[in-house]
Amino acid sequence: MNDAEIIDKASDVFLKFTAELNDGLYKELNGRLSIRWSDKRCFYACASVGSKVEEPPKHYIDLTQETAVLLYRDIEDYYHYIKYGADNEKFDIIFKDFDYPKALSSESAKEHRCKNMFISGLTWILFHELGHLIQEHGHIRTLYNCSESTEVVDCATNDNEISRELSVKAAAVSHVTEMAADFYAMISCLRALVRHFEGDELEAEIKSFTSALALVLYRFHGVNSYVATEVPEGSHPQPLIRLEQTMPLIHEVYSIFDLLETNGIRLNRLDLINITSWSSFTVGFFWLRKNRQLGVPDDYFLSGSLQRPGMINYHQIILDIWGEIKPLIDKVKRVDDPFYELQFSDQYREIISQVRGV
Ligand SMILES: [Zn+2]
Repeated sequence: MNDAEIIDKASDVFLKFTAELNDGLYKELNGRLSIRWSDKRCFYACASVGSKVEEPPKHYIDLTQETAVLLYRDIEDYYHYIKYGADNEKFDIIFKDFDYPKALSSESAKEHRCKNMFISGLTWILFHELGHLIQEHGHIRTLYNCSESTEVVDCATNDNEISRELSVKAAAVSHVTEMAADFYAMISCLRALVRHFEGDELEAEIKSFTSALALVLYRFHGVNSYVATEVPEGSHPQPLIRLEQTMPLIHEVYSIFDLLETNGIRLNRLDLINITSWSSFTVGFFWLRKNRQLGVPDDYFLSGSLQRPGMINYHQIILDIWGEIKPLIDKVKRVDDPFYELQFSDQYREIISQVRGV
């Protein structure tokens, strides 16, 4: 597809996304969701609010055309990267017990596969922004002086100069609301996949979605080494942390609810863990090659978030701040459905308290 066709395709996705929500949820709320294109030359997504929390919602999601084009080009390049298998010797070792995919589809289905990956990546971005809006994170952030503007609640790019000056508490609020939006997006996408697909197609879509998600987050991360973090800084968690928080939801959600079996595919928990690991590692290696990076940056690949240096302290701060702001969100959120709201498992809480000796 050329750039204009990519933007047209993205417009179709946006129109469908907003039409469904405006006919359903936003109609019930007597409000409106609008998508606005921007021609800024960067990968950029943003949610903003034109109403007070006590009024019917006037919500906006802004995206740049460049976001659509860059995402599609990344997907096409990744498709070829998997097909040519330049790093398969490494993957043979990393995934020695897993018959990992050697192609994303047959050659004849290439465009169909790339388009579907594109739709799933874009949809994740849209649901992420919707998560901010539904839970009125802009209002919460204003209460904690997270941003100068009450309107812009998210820019899905790396931190800017202003956000680096946030206090630890404001940064923690910003980070945890990012995680809450990621969580909302994951649950929404995973549910949408089982609603729209079944059988082999669903299996292919799950693989595509995990790779598309990893492509978005590695684009934010770049080819940098992981920077050890003990306290939240800036507006967003490091993209690798976001990847490590979101990927396990795929096997947790699907294996808990047996959603896949009822949709005609037999992927067990281990299969799903292998798929998400494969997507994350292949995208990581792909991103190094795409950016002509020689050598591997430190702590660059997916790992257990809690094993990273300083992360126990970081996660404790995140847990504490979520406990503090969740009641505030509950007062203003537009939808009451706990399934879509960020949760931390008892096991996760236990690990943190054990390591801290609490
Ligand atoms: Zn966000």
